[in-house]
Amino acid sequence: MINKIGVEKIFCEYLIIGSGAGGSVACKYLVDKGKDVLLIEEGDHYEINQFNKSISKSFLYAWRNSGMTPVISKSNFGFGEGKCLGGGTYINGGLIWRTPEIILDRWNNEFNTDIFSMDNMTQYFEDIESTIDLSSLKNNVEDNSESKKILEIGKKNNIKVVKVPRSINSSEKDNELILGAAGKTTNSILQKFIYPSKTKGLRLMTKCRAQKLISENDQIKYVEVIKDNLIKRIYSKKIILACGATQTPMIIKRSFGNSFFKSEINVHLNLRLGARFNENMQINSSLMFSQQIQEYLHDGVLIMPTSFNKNNFFSSLAKLTNKELMQIEQNIQNYSSFIIQLASSSNILLNNFRDNTILSYNLNNNDIAKLRKYFVIFCNALFNVGAEEIYLPFKKNYKINKDTNLKIFFEKYLLNNNLEMVSVHGMSSAKMGQKKEKNIIFDINGKSFDFKNLFCLDSSVLPTCTIESPQATIMAVALKILNDNFN
Ligand SMILES: Cc1cc2nc3c(=O)[nH]c(=O)nc-3n(C[C@H](O)[C@H](O)[C@H](O)COP(=O)(O)OP(=O)(O)OC[C@H]3O[C@@H](n4cnc5c(N)ncnc54)[C@H](O)[C@@H]3O)c2cc1C
Repeated sequence: MINKIGVEKIFCEYLIIGSGAGGSVACKYLVDKGKDVLLIEEGDHYEINQFNKSISKSFLYAWRNSGMTPVISKSNFGFGEGKCLGGGTYINGGLIWRTPEIILDRWNNEFNTDIFSMDNMTQYFEDIESTIDLSSLKNNVEDNSESKKILEIGKKNNIKVVKVPRSINSSEKDNELILGAAGKTTNSILQKFIYPSKTKGLRLMTKCRAQKLISENDQIKYVEVIKDNLIKRIYSKKIILACGATQTPMIIKRSFGNSFFKSEINVHLNLRLGARFNENMQINSSLMFSQQIQEYLHDGVLIMPTSFNKNNFFSSLAKLTNKELMQIEQNIQNYSSFIIQLASSSNILLNNFRDNTILSYNLNNNDIAKLRKYFVIFCNALFNVGAEEIYLPFKKNYKINKDTNLKIFFEKYLLNNNLEMVSVHGMSSAKMGQKKEKNIIFDINGKSFDFKNLFCLDSSVLPTCTIESPQATIMAVALKILNDNFN
């Protein structure tokens, strides 16, 4: 029961709500400047490697909604994000990519500025990479069979394949990581940003949920939070929202109503393909992949392996019959999985209904056309490097082989009601802009147009999606916002 009598008041100079990629940068920056900082996090604190490779335990405890938040859509679609100290950075692949230049150019063009040029942003990327000690992680892992296939595809088809940065969440020596359960890392965001800040005086409250922002005139007067089933009020001179792509808009909507602000989330869609080869593909399973096809980045498409794990793989094959699953199990070492990732041109719509996050999405014809094109290209390429059978992320008609006429097949079956998609990259749900509009409530410095002491510096404030994995972009943009506002 929530006790409403004798509400406790807490005071601080800076309140950061959410401890993920954006919030962790804010806490380190402000604590290093000697500020009085309180960081609150809805989820719990889990030790490094606490789940010891168990994806199901990680889902249960460290992810929002125990794994996937359903998105109402004609296809099967789940959205995944973290809910624990470190947010998404605790459960993610830990790949630190700088923002592609075409994205930075897009932002500069939109805002008629050069503040997001690579020249300007490099200092922030360097700062983040140096704190993480990225240069200490050498990606010399060549033993990942799927990555070798990607390299072979690159050579055969003369297309751009790049080396993936070493995962900061993987084990120290051999880059081992079950995606979704942090490994034996030494370079994670907890270790490099949050724990050191704690040593220097950061005040931290986990299992503490910010419910509402309470305003008075043009200021947020206090934030109502729930901790240990009790309502508390936090009074802070400055408030930084860093609740992630779904929850930053949600707290705004809970506070000021759905109509105050129209939130749409930009997403990267992940479509997973399982391929059977006539050779052992799992000499070293669970290694983070080391190669990625970047040839189609200009079109918003990346193709890469996943870090293969049997349980993970089976979870994507739930639609198969028992007989089919048994056959796969017998030859599991011959299987591998890959992802086609698309920066979708349609957005997830987000609404608050009685404190529930309601997400809905409709895949548009543009995206369907792109997916058809790249499924043909990639399946063809896989067959040319030895794949014998491919399991598609389709609800029906999910199995193809070398004899399938790919063009005809995908025209017929790659439909917006036949896909199985996941997204773990949501962003731009409270995107920055130059003037206030129905869907823009923060300026290009991350500052609220409505409330003088409110800022946003997580994935939600990014102007658009990033095509590449977003964590480093979120962190670099957060650092830029902090530098511009709080120096
Ligand atoms: C499985 C997976 C793999 C990924 N792999 C990569 C990768 O390899 N590279 C990469 O760049 N990106 C990756 N990402 C994406 C990346 O992790 C996210 O984009 C990033 O963490 C988002 O940062 P954020 O600060 O916006 O929010 P988050 O990291 O989501 O953090 C927000 C935090 O705020 C807390 N919170 C929310 N609401 C409240 C509230 N009301 N009160 C208090 N606290 C609240 C949440 O519990 C959460 O912990 C991956 C994501 C997932 C899920």
